[in-house]
Amino acid sequence: MGLFKKKCEYCRKKIKRGREISKKINDPVFKNLKEKTFCSLEHAEIYEKEISLKKCR
Ligand SMILES: [Zn+2]
Repeated sequence: MGLFKKKCEYCRKKIKRGREISKKINDPVFKNLKEKTFCSLEHAEIYEKEISLKKCR
């Protein structure tokens, strides 16, 4: 973490500099907003959906 080559939080691919998308994800475990990095908006949305499903279990 903290390096300039970031990985997508969902698919774990490396993201080219300047192409990363940051999204604040509501974390159901810690009950706070955490900024995560994704390769695309699509992956950000899937990740957010999956984490909210975990909350229901
Ligand atoms: Zn991705």
